[in-house]
Amino acid sequence: MGFSQQPFPMSSHDPSSAPAHFIRSRIRKELEAGQHERVITRFPPEPNGYLHIGHAKSIVLNFAMAAEFGGYTNLRFDDTNPAREEQRFIDAIRDDVHWLGYEWENECYASDYFETLYGYALHLIENGLAYVDSQDADTIRAQRGTLTEPGINSPHRERTPEENKALFEAMRAGAFEDGAHVVRAKIDMAAPNINLRDPVIYRIRHQEHPRTGSDWCIYPSYDFAHGQSDAIEHITHSLCTLEFEDHRPLYDWLIEHLPVPARPQQIEFARLNLDFAVLSKRRLTRLVEEGHVSGWDDPRLPTLAGIRRRGFTPESIRNFCTEIGVTKSESVIPFGVLERNLRDDLNVRAPRRLAVLDPLKLVLTNYPEDESEHIELPNHPQNPDMGTRSVPLSRELFIERDDFMEDAPKKFFRLKPGGEVRLRGAFIIRCDEIIKDETGQVIELRCSYDPDTRSGQPGADRKVKGTIHWVSAAHAVKAEVRLYDRLFSVPNPGADKERDFTDFINPESLSVLDNARLEPSVAEMQPAEFCQFERLGYFVPDPDGQADAPVFNRAVTLRDAWAKLEKSLKNG
Ligand code: ATP
Ligand code: MG
Repeated sequence: MGFSQQPFPMSSHDPSSAPAHFIRSRIRKELEAGQHERVITRFPPEPNGYLHIGHAKSIVLNFAMAAEFGGYTNLRFDDTNPAREEQRFIDAIRDDVHWLGYEWENECYASDYFETLYGYALHLIENGLAYVDSQDADTIRAQRGTLTEPGINSPHRERTPEENKALFEAMRAGAFEDGAHVVRAKIDMAAPNINLRDPVIYRIRHQEHPRTGSDWCIYPSYDFAHGQSDAIEHITHSLCTLEFEDHRPLYDWLIEHLPVPARPQQIEFARLNLDFAVLSKRRLTRLVEEGHVSGWDDPRLPTLAGIRRRGFTPESIRNFCTEIGVTKSESVIPFGVLERNLRDDLNVRAPRRLAVLDPLKLVLTNYPEDESEHIELPNHPQNPDMGTRSVPLSRELFIERDDFMEDAPKKFFRLKPGGEVRLRGAFIIRCDEIIKDETGQVIELRCSYDPDTRSGQPGADRKVKGTIHWVSAAHAVKAEVRLYDRLFSVPNPGADKERDFTDFINPESLSVLDNARLEPSVAEMQPAEFCQFERLGYFVPDPDGQADAPVFNRAVTLRDAWAKLEKSLKNG
């Protein structure tokens, strides 16, 4: 365990301004009452998939509580089920937590505690608090009873501690097949809480473990390993989601009857649900394995690897998690809230660039053929500190195809035959002529520009209703641009029990535009840099891109007056 405590990475995260929530208030009271000296938390993923935005909620909460109250957070891999766990998931989880901006104090593995946990099980056996049951899993399940009926005692419940100990030792030594025996805590088969009806704490599983290899052929159950691992690490607050509320009496019973070094307290909070998305590893695994998406980092997925590739910033995700807060009641957060946090972050920080996604050629007939110039454009309209850049302009340009309309309604303020618009940062142009191909498709606009309307000229302030973006045809960089929409076409794809959630995948969740043109400065952008393509949204380079064939992802659209206009035009 070799991770030193780093200074808390979030200068913007001022605890005094952090919104109150019940966990924060409760911890503060406990500290004031002298119950703890500091707060130690952990984030305990099972390494059987990638982290998603729901995990981010838990990560942000755990790290925030420890940092605010003078403690630290461990990253603990809950690797008790070797059948589904893999090293690549461990690596991806480490990357994602780092990327979110957090440093854990210790990197821990439940498998590091296998010997201790074995000792704990033995302790229960020796004290008559656990026994070896030799019935099969179905029989044990059938004897558990229901919410209204008590369970049935196993015929092996009264085995003596000596008998149980000998069997357990033989289990460990590999004397039995999978499923021949289990160890169960001896609590109460009539307990109203089913979790207390003699839960299984150890199983035989002849399976290699990614970390312990073939050292073990018995593995502790999740419920047995989880609370004890927290105690071993001296975790003060085991923060977890509400579905573990009913397990708390079991965890408390185990802690009470075992010689553990600390007594963590568990506090449950509501998990994050996001509309138009699925946030369960089982479902995410299916989307990946069945090829509905390109991988765990497909930008349409709510995995941290996916939204990071899409262009979400760690700041926007931390802000989102802080904004949605921590409560005990389940709710569904609109995907748009996540997007708004990204926009709010990038609006301040993203340099502006010009790009044309669906190019239409435009020729300035009164611009000299062999000349070009550089237009100095601000990198950010409200932040002069971000400087300017020069964007080349010449006789042949590209504009956005939908910035031109031949039979335009009165309220269409972009380019139309005989109409005028301003080219962003340059001058006013008039559309004089339309060239079409034999199918009737417009392939070129011939326009004239008004030199008097350049910046510094007498007509610089002349007003026209529309301003459009452009790139110089000769200078622009050709690129592929990927636009994303919701992965599902319904808000809750898992709600319909008659149908599989994959039936609701939005066929238009990805559109690829392979003929986009970008201003030359964009070609130098590196992965993890971001910019705003003016009027189009926030974009990042995708790792699929090559030096001579860049690929860009749209992270999120702009809150844009054009979109509204578009809508009102469509509606007549
Ligand atoms: P899933 O339900 O997606 O399969 P999980 O709960 O099995 O996930 P773990 O790896 O066990 O995944 O989760 C690690 C931690 O993250 C747990 O403490 C869990 O409570 C928390 N967590 C998982 N999903 C969410 C969520 N949607 N919102 C908040 N916390 C979550
Ligand atoms: Mg879990």
